Amino acid sequence: MHVPSQVYRGDRHVAIAGLRASPQHLFQGKWVTGKCMAAMDPRVQLQKAQDAKVLMVGAGGIGCELLKTLVLTGFRHIELIDMDTIEISNLNRQFLFRQRHVGKPKAEVAREAALKLRPDAKIVAHHANVKDPKFNLDFFGKFSVVMNGLDNLEARRHVNRMCLAANVPLVESGTTGYLGQVTVHIKGKSECYECKAKAMPKSYPTCTITNTPSKPVHCIVWAKELPFAKLFGERGVANDLDIRVMAEGGGAGEDARSEGHETEEKYSYEWCKESETSRAFARRIFDRIFGFNVMKTLEMDDLWKNRRRPTPLYVKDVWAGAGEDDECRGDPDDTAEPDVEICGAERGAKRQRVDESGASVNHTERDSMAAGPWERGLSAAASLGLMDLQKVWSLKENTRVFLESLRLFVEKRPEEIGCLTFDKDDTLAVEFVTAAANLRAFSFGISMQSLFDAKGVAGNIVHAIATTNAIIAGLIVLESLKVLNDQTDACREVFCLEHPAKKKLIMSAELEMPNVNCYVCSKKPLTLEADAQHTTLGCVINKIVRKRLCVDSPMVFAGDRILYEVGDDLEESEVKMYEQNLKKRLCDFDPPISNGSALTVEDLQQDFKCNIFIKHREDFDEEREPDRLVLIGSGFASAETVAKKEVSESKVIGENGQHNVKPSEVSQATKASSETAPTRVGAEDSNCGDAQTCSGGVVVIEEDDDEVMEATTESMLGKRKREEGETERPPSPKAEEEVVEVLLSDTAARKASSMPGKGSEADPEIIDV
Ligand SMILES: [Zn+2]
Repeated sequence: MHVPSQVYRGDRHVAIAGLRASPQHLFQGKWVTGKCMAAMDPRVQLQKAQDAKVLMVGAGGIGCELLKTLVLTGFRHIELIDMDTIEISNLNRQFLFRQRHVGKPKAEVAREAALKLRPDAKIVAHHANVKDPKFNLDFFGKFSVVMNGLDNLEARRHVNRMCLAANVPLVESGTTGYLGQVTVHIKGKSECYECKAKAMPKSYPTCTITNTPSKPVHCIVWAKELPFAKLFGERGVANDLDIRVMAEGGGAGEDARSEGHETEEKYSYEWCKESETSRAFARRIFDRIFGFNVMKTLEMDDLWKNRRRPTPLYVKDVWAGAGEDDECRGDPDDTAEPDVEICGAERGAKRQRVDESGASVNHTERDSMAAGPWERGLSAAASLGLMDLQKVWSLKENTRVFLESLRLFVEKRPEEIGCLTFDKDDTLAVEFVTAAANLRAFSFGISMQSLFDAKGVAGNIVHAIATTNAIIAGLIVLESLKVLNDQTDACREVFCLEHPAKKKLIMSAELEMPNVNCYVCSKKPLTLEADAQHTTLGCVINKIVRKRLCVDSPMVFAGDRILYEVGDDLEESEVKMYEQNLKKRLCDFDPPISNGSALTVEDLQQDFKCNIFIKHREDFDEEREPDRLVLIGSGFASAETVAKKEVSESKVIGENGQHNVKPSEVSQATKASSETAPTRVGAEDSNCGDAQTCSGGVVVIEEDDDEVMEATTESMLGKRKREEGETERPPSPKAEEEVVEVLLSDTAARKASSMPGKGSEADPEIIDV
């Protein structure tokens, strides 16, 4: 049934126009089906909004829109929490911020800006982490509703648990590109945020990354995890991608799987300050990584029986065979030459160039302005005059960027070497990774990427769209108003689609009841498949309790014995004992923790408690289960799901790093709920939580700074089996009625994507022990 569009005027104005939202629109009972809401006096509703105390978590892309819409709707009592400071890249859509605010706390600047819109509002800003113990149950308990505009899974899980414990309704949200959703979580009445499985970071088989890449993403992951981490990250940390022992005097990580045992100095990634110039160092590293290592790989004959053999690259050969457009013929090959820049930053920076508009641009000025893509100032590409970030560099240009970025790191940022982690906002780091990935891609006959595209993949970026954030923020307020008016029956999960189905850009569905198998709100036990003879307690705590369950301050029990806890008030002897326990294998405890044993995990702050049954298992798939730990239960993959094949990257990341999943594909990809999250390698869980899925199906999301983290998910509205034997719930007719008609009504030519709700899949099976 189509509802007259005017009925939804409030929705449309709030959601689409944002700034034009007004209490009149909202409180004329026009923002939800008349049956549910019309009976209530608009003045009463306005009063409820004015009296309500709301907590906003996150003051980024969604947060800015949300705060504005809240104050213009009539909300007066608002507290907001955000731990970030403002970056230049935020300014294109986080419209409460200006360039002069760069470096200042988002929460505080957002508050000041919102007060200009509504001076009589009472807004309290917290520049802090929402996990800070000061935000305890008493703090959460004082709010009428909590609204999330967060960018990571851990914080979302934390807020979900706090809201459950404090019995405060939570309105959760997320956007990724054109996609977004708002979900409502009310204790006992609807599912909690953790009732449904969330996508975990994507993992690539180690051997594919280290030896047989076949896609650009393999090269980018490799560049981040191997050369970048080895050169600039923490020294001596064993890396899953270590092909050979990189040891010098045993100082570096020993890899039991390594076969070669070369310890020659020439394998070292260290810069020999005494005897080597930074330029010679960069060349040596280049030859080592793209030449020598590839030669070594070629020795593994079996690998190349059915594959194209990679081409080793040496600097000398690149210069010899490179194109004729090289501006830097300054004999970069001459190692005896004094250490002058190949295409030095100073020289390059002084060079004037004329950009497309005809204006003369001085690189030095540009850098010092900290504007545009070079906001961190130091840029190899800028110093080399490679200004078009969307252009794919040639082999020679990639070589130059690699050498120059390495040299700049060594000379200009030496204090950071040894403690760097990859950051998508670090220009030099992105340039290094792009060049390294492209050089490897060249070797292996894979297409190279522009810096823009490589950055999108390396940072798991889906570019944020301000309009989506505005729509979602409007929908958060609408759902919150229903909650505040005790109209929880009228609350909906609402989805913003990229490809409108049946001409609907926005779709809604009824809330689902709590999942009786949820380990959070229904306290159902989880099962952990592990090799009790080899797995240490520390491994279980770090990889499962902290990373998968997102428990910050865990207490772990076996029966009534405390095996581990953290806290400032522990005795020294206790700290020592717990440290020793971390090193013990599960079978070393007395009595041993073995098949059928239960561990209990508690977090006092979150008021969280769950039991994990151990299921002893000795055989794991090294590629698919590199941690040798498989967590099973609602919200986590079943063993069967873990074994499913990868979904091709093209489905996840489009040509410009955008999310390309269509609703129909999302439906089909239901089984793949854990397959399309950010990249990671082997057991390196570098991106845990940087992406996630929404409950209810679609996509999800992360509203990040200037981009949104990639994520994916279950089917749209894919209904889950609540209990064994229960059949799938068909799409609710009500849900269809409630579909809001928005814009695009004349786009009949647009293919109607399949209506969500079809082709959904059952949950991973729950295994009770
Ligand atoms: Zn739950």
